[in-house]
Amino acid sequence: MVQADPFKNALKQLDDACSILKIDKGTRDYLAEPNKVLRVKLPIKMDNGKIRVFTGFRSQHNNDRGPYKGGIRYFDPEGGVDYMEKEVKALSSWMTWKCAVVDVPLGGGKGGIFVNPKKEKLSANELERLTRRFAYAISEIIGPKKDIPAPDVYTTGVEMSQIMDVYSKMSGNENEPGVITGKPISLGGSLARNVATGLGCAYCVREAAKTIGLRLKGAKVVIQGYGNAGTFAAEYLEKMGAKIIAVSDTKGSIINPNGLDSKKVLEFKNKTGSVVGYPGSKKISTEQLLTTKCDVLVPAALENQINAAIAKKLQCKIIAEAANGPTMPEADPIIYSKKILVIPDILANSGGVCISYLEWVQNNMGYYWSFDEVASKMESHITRGFRDTLALSKKHKIDMRRAAMVLAVGRVVEAFKAKGLWP
Ligand code: NAD
Repeated sequence: MVQADPFKNALKQLDDACSILKIDKGTRDYLAEPNKVLRVKLPIKMDNGKIRVFTGFRSQHNNDRGPYKGGIRYFDPEGGVDYMEKEVKALSSWMTWKCAVVDVPLGGGKGGIFVNPKKEKLSANELERLTRRFAYAISEIIGPKKDIPAPDVYTTGVEMSQIMDVYSKMSGNENEPGVITGKPISLGGSLARNVATGLGCAYCVREAAKTIGLRLKGAKVVIQGYGNAGTFAAEYLEKMGAKIIAVSDTKGSIINPNGLDSKKVLEFKNKTGSVVGYPGSKKISTEQLLTTKCDVLVPAALENQINAAIAKKLQCKIIAEAANGPTMPEADPIIYSKKILVIPDILANSGGVCISYLEWVQNNMGYYWSFDEVASKMESHITRGFRDTLALSKKHKIDMRRAAMVLAVGRVVEAFKAKGLWP
């Protein structure tokens, strides 16, 4: 089933925030549409000698606070190429708000190519030609001071290195590592990038726990999705004293009320392909996982996991949205009325963009920080983002999701007004 227009959802959230901030219609219209959406044709010679034409996009939503920033995905959403354009537009606007919430001086961008390299089994050479052609096609609008892409769905440090190489060669052979983030360490990538999202999420949970007077030592945590974000959230929350009692992946969910060892569960998953069957655990359903009595629920898998029916049965005190969009809009008022503290996705999973920002800073100054230095700089962005959001949530008596949007939109509008309009 093709999902609803994601760009309409993004506009609805913007409208809500603008109403609370009493922002005029002209400014609201300015913030709604991306500044620029580039759609490019990508003719590639395939390994069999035939030409195939792909379509790519780069949406640049807003750069009032700094250069555009956001991922490049290789994906084939069910709705087709036009749906993908709406999706990247929406995602680019969420990047604007995500950067503003944690106060990194960057704007919002997103892009990608309509292709599923896994399903279509493109060879490494075909993928490289496609990536380099895409980098060439968008090279005029990206740059360390203009727009800094990053990895996203089905793209990795490999593609980022190729894009950096094309861009550097096209800029008169200047070394330009700051044109892209998510690079391998050998090309100017940052330490701590791999743990960033999970670690940032754990920092948010720590702040939320302080807010509601919950002791993290012994606090019970449930994690949906045991991938990059989920495993590192588990590892760092465990280091903070919490007990991981249930986790899940695509094959199913497991629970052990006495606690699961996060690292051993990961080793088991890496060996067997799933967390299911981990010694000492019991298999449960997705609904049981999400509605388990616990202190902290971390949805770290997919969007649209918590609907109204699940929301009514939730038994947690904090929800930390490591995944993007795990809570359906219909569930928000129910969760708010149950006094569950939600750390919204644009804040809870912003560790990734914070460290992307720090990678770019290191590239620009040509000096590189240790893991601990990077992590502690990220920590201060995230904790301030949390506290600022909480303050607005209390001031306007609104949930944390709306408060985060109010904070972000307010910051972007402030920069927009300070700059003024020209020409
Ligand atoms: P990942 O592919 O590493 O892990 C996803 C995990 O979710 C896998 O273990 C998979 O088995 C599991 N999963 C998938 N469908 C599931 C289901 N129906 N039920 C239970 N588990 C399921 O991905 P990731 O990078 O960890 O991303 C997870 C979420 O976090 C996504 O929403 C992503 O957009 C968001 N996110 C990630 C980052 C990052 O830096 N990794 C940054 C921001 C947001």
